[in-house]
Amino acid sequence: MSTLDFRDLPEDRLATTDAEGNRLWIIPARVRGHWKNRKTIFHIVLLAIFVLTPWLRWGGSPIVLFDIFNRQFVFFGKVFASHDAPLLFFVLGILGFGLIIATALYGRVWCGWACPQTVFIEQVFRRIETWVVGNRAAQLAARKAPMQWKHIRRNTLKWILFVLVSTILAHTFIAYFVSWEKLLQMMQQPPEESWTTFLFVIVFTGLILFDFAWFREQFCIIMCPYGRFQSVLMDQNSVTVSYDYNRGEPRVRGLKKDQDPSLGDCIDCYKCVSVCPTGIDIRRGTQLECIGCTACIDACDEVMEKVNRPKGLIRYASQNELEGQAQAFWSPRLFGYLGVMGLLIGGFIFTLSQHQSFYVAILRQNQRPYVVTESGLMNNFKMHLKNPTFEPVEYSIFLDSEVAELAPEKITGMIEANQDVHRPFFVRIPQWETLDERSLTMVIRYKIKGQWVEKFETIRAVLPK
Ligand code: SF4
Ligand code: SF4
Repeated sequence: MSTLDFRDLPEDRLATTDAEGNRLWIIPARVRGHWKNRKTIFHIVLLAIFVLTPWLRWGGSPIVLFDIFNRQFVFFGKVFASHDAPLLFFVLGILGFGLIIATALYGRVWCGWACPQTVFIEQVFRRIETWVVGNRAAQLAARKAPMQWKHIRRNTLKWILFVLVSTILAHTFIAYFVSWEKLLQMMQQPPEESWTTFLFVIVFTGLILFDFAWFREQFCIIMCPYGRFQSVLMDQNSVTVSYDYNRGEPRVRGLKKDQDPSLGDCIDCYKCVSVCPTGIDIRRGTQLECIGCTACIDACDEVMEKVNRPKGLIRYASQNELEGQAQAFWSPRLFGYLGVMGLLIGGFIFTLSQHQSFYVAILRQNQRPYVVTESGLMNNFKMHLKNPTFEPVEYSIFLDSEVAELAPEKITGMIEANQDVHRPFFVRIPQWETLDERSLTMVIRYKIKGQWVEKFETIRAVLPK
């Protein structure tokens, strides 16, 4: 496959394709600098969080578990079930609006700093490639040279490591859904014992390998939906990785500016283009392909340092700042976004405060909701109790009423972890002919983590017409 010539970028098509539409492979040059250092530390923290989280436990349960098979989500010991779907709405809304606000303020900051696509490619797959094949020059030479035994050996080793890393990442990802304990158990059993999980691991390994090892920047440029709509979220005040054209132009190759001060600071060295992982020239302005990775900032700062000119020819700056206009942080649009965010956070807190760790649903029996007997009116109910936690829950239920009683008088029992029970029961009303108030209060007590919790449910008596 041909490689991108960064000194000859086309104006009328994607830089990563040739005139026939074939892909041009990008091999970015190595970059050093303070943004690179900050990003590496941040990415290592993110990678550590991703890899370690499925191993961490909180109060005997996984710290995070998306248990799709049992329709549960565990977060710091709290178990959320399908009844808590509104919480998911608020969580997704908060994350979505968080991304919108970040984009309005700082452009594609998510892509360059926290997107798994960037983190895994930059910190894992490119590092393996550089370690096995060599730097940019060595990788270019290896692609251009006739096939030799050493190239076959290096490429084979590279792909073996890619497959190995993809397999580890796929297992780590699946551990978020089944827990490491179960996954390790499954790994010791034949695949037919857990076909679904086995197939998911194979599919995710393949997807990770395809995307991070081969497809790479194509995903950001062609497929990522966020990249498409980011431009409508930004305005003149959004701070993005930008080239200071007023300072840099007119550009001229070499150090001629030392003789002619009217020239710009850009020495047209193409260093900023050579390090770009999406193959663009930032000097052409903000482009859809720019993922805000900051590599061109570090590359240009290094050049400016060498030619004794101030750093920051490429830097984080807004359009207003570059044009010498006042830079405004607050805008009506940002207030609007923050208003929606506030509503979503309020909704989330309210819904979370209503969350219950033990579910009780009381329904009337469909057939024969009541029977009149000699001892009074018998109302016929059924109760569904669900324990979505990781430990047994003891419960005790009675009726708080002077005109009615439960039959049996008290409903008690124990529900094992992650189980539910259905219990029919009667409510007996001896003086039902003179009953004024049909609402009756059931008291439900349950013991969870050694503490008795009390809640109340209202049921309505059914009387003969
Ligand atoms: S233009 Fe700069 S910030 Fe944008 S992707 Fe290329 S190197 Fe990264
Ligand atoms: S690295 Fe700086 S000086 Fe070199 S071409 Fe890019 S903007 Fe110009």
